Amino acid sequence: MALTHSGNEKTPVENICPCCGTNVMCVTKSEYNVDNFGSVLMKTTTCQKCGYKHTDILSLEKNEPTIFRAKISSASDLDIRVVKSGTATIKIPEFGATITPGQASEGFITNVEGVLDRLEDTLTFMLSSADEKHLKKGRRILKLIQKSKGNPCFTFIIEDPFGNSRLISSDSSKIKTRNLTNRELQKVKFGLDAVRD
Ligand SMILES: [Zn+2]
Repeated sequence: MALTHSGNEKTPVENICPCCGTNVMCVTKSEYNVDNFGSVLMKTTTCQKCGYKHTDILSLEKNEPTIFRAKISSASDLDIRVVKSGTATIKIPEFGATITPGQASEGFITNVEGVLDRLEDTLTFMLSSADEKHLKKGRRILKLIQKSKGNPCFTFIIEDPFGNSRLISSDSSKIKTRNLTNRELQKVKFGLDAVRD
């Protein structure tokens, strides 16, 4: 799928760097055009002193609280495009894995396989300091992820209360979309945990 990029502007902002505390932050805004989707704005805040970087995604299209769901059952499904904003939650029920938006949650554009890679990296990192209970669960999820790359069979869900996220496939019948209900909206998590039930 094509991802064309246009526009680039770097502007100083008044923000204090969460890493080093100085106020020499700059924001770069880039507009991306994603096939079958439209325009997204990628906003990257960088500290000129220590190099701290934070990226988020904003949709330039409609913004309703939305849930996207896709059954991933073939290698080509792993190629389904994922636009994830900092406010989105990703769920893979078969793995028992939920990625909730943390305080410094980043936005990114990737595909389903790319999310599995990220999940694998995060889990591997977390396991280095996990207790017995989480170690067991984490290892089980890791095994499922690794298996799924060769022979995928799982449900991929992304929900975003601000509607800045998307799942995009060239075969639109693969993607089920609906608005989040009020009840679901109340349950949306903004916790600090990266991965949990
Ligand atoms: Zn800094």
